[in-house]
Amino acid sequence: MGSPGHTVLKAWPTPGAASLAFEGRPAPGLKPGRPVSMGQLLAISRDPLAGDLRAPFSATVVGLSPGRIDLAYGQGLSGQVPEPLDLKSLEGEALAAALKSLGVARPGRPPAGEPALVSALSPEPGLDLPAALWLDQKPTLQRGLGLLARLWPGTGITEILPPRFAPLGSSKPVVFRDPFPLTLPSFLRRKVLGLPAPRATGVVGPETLWAMGAVARSGLPLTLIPMTVQGFHYLAPSGVRISDALSAVNLKPMAGDVALLGGLVTGRPTVRLGRGLKAPDLALRLIRSGRLPAPPAPCRLCSLCRLACPLGLPVDALAQAPLAEWPGLHRAAREALAGCGGCGACGLACPSRRPILLLAVAAGAGDPYGRAGNDPPPLGE
Ligand code: SF4
Ligand code: SF4
Repeated sequence: MGSPGHTVLKAWPTPGAASLAFEGRPAPGLKPGRPVSMGQLLAISRDPLAGDLRAPFSATVVGLSPGRIDLAYGQGLSGQVPEPLDLKSLEGEALAAALKSLGVARPGRPPAGEPALVSALSPEPGLDLPAALWLDQKPTLQRGLGLLARLWPGTGITEILPPRFAPLGSSKPVVFRDPFPLTLPSFLRRKVLGLPAPRATGVVGPETLWAMGAVARSGLPLTLIPMTVQGFHYLAPSGVRISDALSAVNLKPMAGDVALLGGLVTGRPTVRLGRGLKAPDLALRLIRSGRLPAPPAPCRLCSLCRLACPLGLPVDALAQAPLAEWPGLHRAAREALAGCGGCGACGLACPSRRPILLLAVAAGAGDPYGRAGNDPPPLGE
């Protein structure tokens, strides 16, 4: 095992169980007790941009409830073994349909005339899986980039790189030196293309390219997700339970601990340790109860939140109100924080640890990663 921050992605040993969430309908004939083969279709996604659900390993279905399938490892069991799909001749809608069926989630296409931004930037402090993928999985990412060009014919692609990173294929990549939060997908288009409002559409991360490249190379369904667990980077079977993932890095959650899915700023805390990991969680870390941020203190009227906002939004005017009044500020937030990118920089800057992202959410801030159906961001308390 490498040290935290090491860029090599380790393979994950086959887990004993998985818990897979889905929105859509289960595959015909799926029921508890049935064996399924690795890659077998488990559920058809309702969201056209989400991939269908595939079995991450050969297993027995041990639970089937609305939106959730539980699997237990089943060596030697035989379900329906998927046939490889040849993606070479496909493009546009036909390629999109093939990717969906293979379990690959696709990004939203940028509007006509705007390029897609493929970004190798680590979008938050401490969230360095994108950089690790870029450095460790280049051939797979290059296949993914080729597939992206065929998925969106006529759309230009610009690579956005931190200093000293080699591009995957572009002759004219953009080197980006700005710090968080401008590295967030929701701000990149604004910063690089001069668009007026933050928007994540058309920003593609290495984890998406990796998924595309993995199925392009094998023709087989996607069964792995790139994931950082407590600083170590893995290619893990989708659906690995949080409790199992923490055990694998020798962590035992205790009362009051919180598991954080995603980055420190825009991640989502959860105490459901039976939840399975799924794209685009990107990262899992356990935060011990003693290290949780202190509860919010009264506002110091310092306006650091406003100064931290990359859009210069007057977030302080709202954030200075007593917390009890915040639920009544939703309409004011929508007006005062129009265009908010949901980056959380205001909350990160606040010396009183006030959960300012709540106001951003009330203002209708989009997910800074452009993900569909995301949980609300953490409250910072
Ligand atoms: S989350 Fe806060 S810092 Fe980020 S854009 Fe919105 S108001 Fe500004
Ligand atoms: S940064 Fe925090 S303490 Fe300072 S004005 Fe904003 S909400 Fe108040």
